[in-house]
Amino acid sequence: MNELSSGQLREALVCVCDTVIESEPMLTEIDNVIGDGDHGVGMAIGFTSLKKMLLSHEFDMPSELMKASGMELMKAMGGASGVIFGSLFIGGYETIAEKDTLKAKDVYEFFLASKESISRRGKAQKGDKTMLDALSSAVDAMQQSVEKGEDVLQCLSRAAAGATAGAEATKEMLPRFGRSKNFREAALGYPDPGAVSTSLIFTSLYQGIKQISLQEEN
Ligand code: ADP
Ligand code: MG
Repeated sequence: MNELSSGQLREALVCVCDTVIESEPMLTEIDNVIGDGDHGVGMAIGFTSLKKMLLSHEFDMPSELMKASGMELMKAMGGASGVIFGSLFIGGYETIAEKDTLKAKDVYEFFLASKESISRRGKAQKGDKTMLDALSSAVDAMQQSVEKGEDVLQCLSRAAAGATAGAEATKEMLPRFGRSKNFREAALGYPDPGAVSTSLIFTSLYQGIKQISLQEEN
């Protein structure tokens, strides 16, 4: 699969919404341990609104789709996490603004810019036990995929594996941002909730696109 259209991306984003919504109890459990327990509910609210929006709109360009998705998350979730997860979808807008379809390199550049935008706004970096640990690992894995000349499906598969490894690595980190910083050593051994959400987002995005590519082969 060489490139993604906005229709394909929209369909895959609906899979992402379903996965995040289904994961609410698991995310609540994690945020109960090292946060204030609201992460699962907040994500479920955001991705329920996003799913509704996706099912009732069509988009000509992937950039418009991603921007509208990020705006929906910011509006529905509100607060710091609304900005953070909204920026995951909006922060890379400029890099794909003129593109009708997305190749592996476009997807990589999009999420690289999202990562930089989130880091700029929230002042956190890799190693601070936030969602940026999953996102950075996903972006690094996508960079390697692009350097190898892989296609967009392979690139997303690497992103999913990278995000999952990045979320896993947060178990060993001390928190310095958000509410979990109050837990310090008590947070050791537990993953960051936002990093787990980010790994779910990349994993379901890959699975959604893979489903579409299999359907189109038949
Ligand atoms: P809140 O922290 O307002 O309770 P949530 O529980 O929904 O919001 O989200 C918490 C998640 O947000 C954390 O697990 C972390 O991944 C992410 N987060 C918090 N602060 C930052 C930051 N400065 N930069 C990036 N991500 C952050
Ligand atoms: Mg919270």
